Amino acid sequence: MRLGIAVDSRMCMACYCCFTACKDEHCGYDTPLSAKQPMMGQYWINIREWERGDDSRRIKTATVPTLCAHCQEPECLEAAESGAVYKRPDGIVIIDPVKSKGQKQIADACPLGAVFWNEELEIPQKCTMCAELLDDPDYLSYLGDPSLKRPRCVEACPNRALIFGDLDDPNSEISRLVASQRFTPPEPIAGRETNVKYLNIPTVFLAGTVYRPPDEEEVFIGAKVTVEAGGETFTTETNYFGDWEIEWLPKNADATVTIEAPGYKPVTYKAKTDADHYVAMTYLERA
Ligand code: SF4
Ligand code: SF4
Repeated sequence: MRLGIAVDSRMCMACYCCFTACKDEHCGYDTPLSAKQPMMGQYWINIREWERGDDSRRIKTATVPTLCAHCQEPECLEAAESGAVYKRPDGIVIIDPVKSKGQKQIADACPLGAVFWNEELEIPQKCTMCAELLDDPDYLSYLGDPSLKRPRCVEACPNRALIFGDLDDPNSEISRLVASQRFTPPEPIAGRETNVKYLNIPTVFLAGTVYRPPDEEEVFIGAKVTVEAGGETFTTETNYFGDWEIEWLPKNADATVTIEAPGYKPVTYKAKTDADHYVAMTYLERA
């Protein structure tokens, strides 16, 4: 059994319920696996948010709940002395709150910045995946069913942006979700095997709007838009508002955007995928 959490960025609406539940679970309480989290300054699950777009015609936000990835070959474990960090048989990575005293190098070693240094107690601290609850036979979760035990953040999420389960079981909900979605680990942990699976973190989009010739004063619905970038081809159609958008483009590529519609002259633009761009408002001309 390998326990993990899938973090689906598409579904997160930055409500901070997970953040609050984590605080509720860990602030002010020692557990068998962790010393109490200070009220301020530590975010064992944190919501990374950023604005997207370079033109008011297309603005979006991205939100990514970010927590320790429970790496299977973790740097924090390599940096630790005297067995202060260990990996459980279920794959959860734990920092021992006693053995880790004075070992600031454990916090410094994490490439994701997921470990916090507790100045007062002189210990590194991070997400335990609520293993103390998962281990507790008396903890039933608010659903009242021991088989539905899950970390508090997962339990609190109203939008199913966090899914918990056994990654070794190909039929588990988490395994099916991971298999069906874009696996997009944050750059510092790219290429590693982790038990927290980051899914659908946005890369870059290009967008625009297509209009019929000016004398028609109407948007163009159903124009074909093709973007070639980084050796790949992406296509879409303009929607009811004449808008188009292609998401998940490869970063830092030269892109060619082509807009076509039967009976109209095709239009081509050059663009870069260095960042999200609204490419153009395009008025098609009759062929
Ligand atoms: S994300 Fe950081 S703290 Fe978590 S297991 Fe990996 S190296 Fe350790
Ligand atoms: S509870 Fe769910 S939707 Fe709300 S911030 Fe956390 S992950 Fe996002």
